[in-house]
Amino acid sequence: MSIDLNTLTIKKAHDALLRGEYSALELAEAYLAEIEKKNERLNAYLEVFEDAREQAKEADRRIKEGKARVLTGIPLALKDNILMKGKKVNASSRILQGYVAPYDSTAVSRLKTQGAVFLGRTNMDEFAMGSSTETSYFGPTKNPYDKSRVPGGSSGGAAVAVASNLALAALGSDTAGSVRQPAAFCGVTGFKPTYGTISRHGLIAMGSSLDIIGPIAKTAEDSEILFDAIKGKDPLDCTSIELKVNSQKLKVSDLKIGIPRNFLEMKGIDEDVLASFNESIQTLKKLGCAVQDITLPTIRHALAAYYIIMPAELSTNLARYDGVKYGFYKPGDSLLGDYIATRTDGFGKEARRRLLLGAYVLSSGYYDAYYRTAISVRTLIEKEFAEAFKGVDVIATPTAPTPAFKIGEKTKDPLSMYLADIFTVPANIGAIPALSVPSGFVERSGDSSTGSGRVRLPLGFQIMAGHRNDALLFELGKKFQSA
Ligand code: GLN
Repeated sequence: MSIDLNTLTIKKAHDALLRGEYSALELAEAYLAEIEKKNERLNAYLEVFEDAREQAKEADRRIKEGKARVLTGIPLALKDNILMKGKKVNASSRILQGYVAPYDSTAVSRLKTQGAVFLGRTNMDEFAMGSSTETSYFGPTKNPYDKSRVPGGSSGGAAVAVASNLALAALGSDTAGSVRQPAAFCGVTGFKPTYGTISRHGLIAMGSSLDIIGPIAKTAEDSEILFDAIKGKDPLDCTSIELKVNSQKLKVSDLKIGIPRNFLEMKGIDEDVLASFNESIQTLKKLGCAVQDITLPTIRHALAAYYIIMPAELSTNLARYDGVKYGFYKPGDSLLGDYIATRTDGFGKEARRRLLLGAYVLSSGYYDAYYRTAISVRTLIEKEFAEAFKGVDVIATPTAPTPAFKIGEKTKDPLSMYLADIFTVPANIGAIPALSVPSGFVERSGDSSTGSGRVRLPLGFQIMAGHRNDALLFELGKKFQSA
């Protein structure tokens, strides 16, 4: 039985499973064979779960009993910071080496209820800090379009898994773009929901007021299916919210799209990215949307605010990794010596940089100057978005300022790496939903070591909607993808 994985979507796989065209086990085998073939080169998975076939057989039993749901038997990948009971979970950090999840995250437990099949856990930047998957303790993941380039990050392994047919869809997490930017770099769809709509219970924390789990899939439709399966209020996360079906207009041809021109015309944005963005806008016009320029003067400060708020929360969240309760431990000559030895060797360079930054911006004397100022900027950005969404339904930008860059190109210059988040971070600061859909390709020079000449690299188009208006993005994303 050969299954055409290239054109497969969740809906198509579900229909084929119900019709008995193939079994969940055969579907899982098809993906496992691809993993076997490609993973060594791509380094997308850190671990393939031993019981993947068992899970698939269980799904087949459900299908036979007529109890299948849309995700029954659908092969998924999990970013290495989402807990699944009994499985290792490391957030791609040495400091969590050997740590096994003692419980299921809410997202995983909701997917288990549907009978989804988890194939394995995927590589990421250490504790989700990065835009390239290069800060992983387990080595970088490669972009499938050009092995000398990064897949984006921090959910790079998950995006590569979906782009290379190593899973039908995946769960990543997004604190400043970690689902959307790798999705853009790998030519797949990434969705960052309204803050709180998916429980953070069992997601290893980075910046708790910004973190959210998000689906990476081939299409907006698949993203919506996954989102619907895991969203909703959870008593185990007091920041989680119920997303009411809203009465907002959903007719794509009635939509008003805002373009924050001042934000797009900043230095450092690739010309080809802007050209492709303008083409995507033409597509929206053809769909009947009205397009207008808007000004959002404050969102250009979202990145600066993020690099204060996130390290502050991160340094608090990561204080628990002291060698006593989790994973890696290196003895020192005293209690303090234990902490220093464990945290110095257990965390990578980027993590240590951010831990120091976080402790600094929260320290007495600097708290007002940095942290409190950043929080005020955040409030201004939230207000700016709320105001903007009174005039337009959707705000569009490119997902990232450049296509995938070369491995090693930005590791020596953290600031240039941070700029990769310029378009994605405002949605996290503003707590609003954002969707990245593939929007064409650009040509660049390929891997010189293998002499592969020119390569085609995918780009992403980002649409953002008002708070809790997630459904609108799926509707527009679906129309955009079929146009
Ligand atoms: N590039 C962002 C960072 O380094 C991504 C974080 C994220 O979304 N997890 O912080």
